[in-house]
Amino acid sequence: MSDYINLYTRAYMLLETRTPMMFDCGALCSSACCNENGLGMLLFPYEEEYLAKTNNDFIITDSNIEIQGYKVKLLRCNGTCDRHTRPLACRIFPLFPFTGETGGISVEFDPRAYGTCPLLLTDIEGIYTRGLFRLMVLKTAHMISHDPMINSFLVNMTKELKTIKLFRP
Ligand code: SF4
Ligand code: SF4
Repeated sequence: MSDYINLYTRAYMLLETRTPMMFDCGALCSSACCNENGLGMLLFPYEEEYLAKTNNDFIITDSNIEIQGYKVKLLRCNGTCDRHTRPLACRIFPLFPFTGETGGISVEFDPRAYGTCPLLLTDIEGIYTRGLFRLMVLKTAHMISHDPMINSFLVNMTKELKTIKLFRP
């Protein structure tokens, strides 16, 4: 089994300073994706081991998704957190690394962001969702997807998100 704490430490570092904008993009939308009444977010496999070492008061439970006997975890927050230890799902939003049918990964907009995230609207000066930020999400995804469980999670999520995309404009 991978050393997940080490793996996520490196992943978090890659996405620590590279964000869609030079400042916290929550200023644009009153942190629309940080809602205490939100449905929560799925963690990457065994990411909870890393988060258990942080001081956030996250609530982490089993989701109804199971991969190779492992129950993917669902995290709920109260709408605020220590930004330095926010989960990977928050770091990469509004992008997601989609797996290809014949392997490979492409980073595209997450259809769950449609209607919520202003970063999808257009290319605005100062927004880097299409540039270096996307490259860093890709680099991070390549690094962590060497782990078979994480790769299976990405394949599973790609199927889910493609289905969601069918029902979005
Ligand atoms: S990722 Fe999008 S929805 Fe979330 S805080 Fe940034 S601009 Fe707002
Ligand atoms: S964990 Fe932090 S960054 Fe993620 S949704 Fe909650 S408050 Fe926002």
